Amino acid sequence: MTISVATLGFPRIGPRRELKFALESFWSGKSDADALSLAAQGLRAAAWARQKALGADIIPSGDFSLYDHVLDTSAMLGAVPARYGWDGGKVRLDTYFAMARGAQGGRGAQDAKGHEGCAHGLDSTAQEMTKWFDTNYHYMVPELVAGQEFALSSGKAVDEFLEAKALGYHTRPVLLGPVTWLTLAKGKDVAPLSLLDSVLPVYEEVLAQLARAGADWVQIDEPCLVLDLDDDQREALKLAYRRLSVNGPKVMLATYFGALGDNVELATDLPVHGLHIDLVRAPEQLDAVWRRARPDLLLSLGVIDGRNVWRADLDALIDRIAPVAAERDLVLAPSCSLLHVPVDLAIEAALDPEVGQWLAFAVQKIGELAVLAQALDQGAGSVAEPLAAARAAVAARRTSPLIHNPAVAARLAAVDAGMTHRASPFADRRAAQQARLGLPSFPTTTIGSFPQTPEVRKARAAHIKGEIDDLAYEQFLRVETAATVEWQEKIGLDVLVHGEFERNDMVQYFGEQLSGFAFTRSAWVQSYGSRCVRPPILYGDVARPKPMTVDWWRYAQSLTGRPMKGMLTGPVTILNWSFVRDDQPRSASCREIALAIRDEVIDLEAAGAAVIQIDEAALREGLPLRRADWQAYLDWAVDCFRLTSSGVRDDTQIHTHMCYSEFNDILPSIGAMDADVISIETARSQMELLDAFADYAYPNEIGPGVYDIHAPRIPAEAEMTELLTLAGKRLPAEQLWVNPDCGLKTRKWEEVRPALIAMVAAAQRMRVRGAYDAA
Ligand code: GLN
Ligand code: ZN
Repeated sequence: MTISVATLGFPRIGPRRELKFALESFWSGKSDADALSLAAQGLRAAAWARQKALGADIIPSGDFSLYDHVLDTSAMLGAVPARYGWDGGKVRLDTYFAMARGAQGGRGAQDAKGHEGCAHGLDSTAQEMTKWFDTNYHYMVPELVAGQEFALSSGKAVDEFLEAKALGYHTRPVLLGPVTWLTLAKGKDVAPLSLLDSVLPVYEEVLAQLARAGADWVQIDEPCLVLDLDDDQREALKLAYRRLSVNGPKVMLATYFGALGDNVELATDLPVHGLHIDLVRAPEQLDAVWRRARPDLLLSLGVIDGRNVWRADLDALIDRIAPVAAERDLVLAPSCSLLHVPVDLAIEAALDPEVGQWLAFAVQKIGELAVLAQALDQGAGSVAEPLAAARAAVAARRTSPLIHNPAVAARLAAVDAGMTHRASPFADRRAAQQARLGLPSFPTTTIGSFPQTPEVRKARAAHIKGEIDDLAYEQFLRVETAATVEWQEKIGLDVLVHGEFERNDMVQYFGEQLSGFAFTRSAWVQSYGSRCVRPPILYGDVARPKPMTVDWWRYAQSLTGRPMKGMLTGPVTILNWSFVRDDQPRSASCREIALAIRDEVIDLEAAGAAVIQIDEAALREGLPLRRADWQAYLDWAVDCFRLTSSGVRDDTQIHTHMCYSEFNDILPSIGAMDADVISIETARSQMELLDAFADYAYPNEIGPGVYDIHAPRIPAEAEMTELLTLAGKRLPAEQLWVNPDCGLKTRKWEEVRPALIAMVAAAQRMRVRGAYDAA
């Protein structure tokens, strides 16, 4: 039986983020479209050469993207919203980037958090962006309208196939499948799936062109097959592949990010020629798929983790795959596109070598597949050396003292139910907190960060490079902090923050101070477009060698008589934004982080903090793909938050912040977190999103964001008063706080100053009105 090695997609950004720099140079006008196109060609050629050299038999084309593969698909289909003034024909670069980033001259560039808002009248704003399944990669949400027409509007798929062919690579082109694309789309007055019939002819045309160009196989990605599907989606899949599997190239249908589950029969019955399944997330599905697959269905087994950075246990994989390989032809592949892992471990210089030997990035993962395939094909003896090396690395990791900290294990074992419960119910705590804090009604605060100005960034960069020493940097941060505290006091905010100038990325800030986390210098992963992140690598038991934020808090509190919030990032968010251990459940890692942050909470309280905020920006986005798995996740996530927050006295007020407001599905869990105050994003929805809290009769206090910080726009006092009035119609005034809807770090001081002054004025107006109503 033959075994081949395939990749489903390779990182596009380049080993040294070459794409980012080419894009940004183009966007800023420093280079032209030809230069960008040349850079992109260079990256593609290098990626093909690399994959080939590493031993991949089947290499993809079309997996490259200048911005996002969902956007590429929208461009291919000519699904360009009217506001971009596109008049048909090919979707050119300016239209493509307008869809990605908004049009030039408008509020084009994205800020660090993502997009500028889109509800303020400028009609060339970017398409919405959201997370790709349960990854931290963001895609551009396709927008569809009733009567939407489609036409083949991009030659990308064929062009890149031919480009590879000219270089001597026979590739398997990758397309995002029509059903997943429609499932991810947002329809205005139309159910996206109802447009399938008009979408399919474009796919048929692309496939026909690819066949003419010489493609014998295509890879069509339908990750929606791992979701809970309704009947319409199932019918759509059947219809689509009945049509797309004839005439054109053979179809390798790729599923990933989870188990096919109840869609196994659907998937194996589709008339496609190959089926890729994710055996990292769902190893157990091998049997079910293998049993059901027609003999002529080519199975592609995703056995190497495309979502994480660990070296694989090759011996174990050989044992698992051998019985299947004895029976049928196989393709071995990473579980999903390698887009989600860094490119090459070999260029990483900052890692502890002991940790480094446990890792595999995209390049190394293809190497692992090649070894696996050869071992299965020609016997383990033919690759004895690399197998031995893999074995040694896996064994070393299993027993390394870097990973296993008996003190952490002992503490975890000692966690009891009392540690996840505050001493008293909310009503009692509230009275104690009121007595201690003496806040007015409609208390005002901010979410934590203040503008990260060019000066702040410059000082940080200079400090990292060693151009300024610790003392000078700290002095600089103190001056920034002091000025910010003084200003907040002056404008009359009630609960102050220190401004977070010492933090860049909040997860990195805490990860760097906790043991068990490693940080890299060059292990970049695409987040969206040109934006890349270096997720921390959580490799071992987490402990907190010493307090992390107490000194900064103490300094900030020393500058004011008003309450200074302690500012922490919660365990679930730290977990969800890191590469995490695969040798224990996520929930176990999360509990370790929770214990470490709990210690910090208790130390802040001991230092005198009366208010402590624990941000859980990523709690909701960590929801599993299948609804049946939600509750288990929510249970441990909430439990970890409570473990973090419950070690304090009644009169210490715990805040949390979440950067979104679609809470409807998860309100009981939000309630179960039992934070004294939660701040959420609601400014853009006219407080409608508070309805869920009202219906649920959420008992604790809430700060619905009244200032949308995602846009540079400065809200007027009247507007915020109006929002607060709307909030007051939904929830009792005593429950309400007044705050922006997220941190201010991406904004400019020129925007923040007038906005917060107006916000304080709005709160004061509400108080006066309340007093008047009461009289
Ligand atoms: N405290 C953080 C800040 O203000 C919260 C950011 C977030 O939740 N994304 O920046
Ligand atoms: Zn936020």
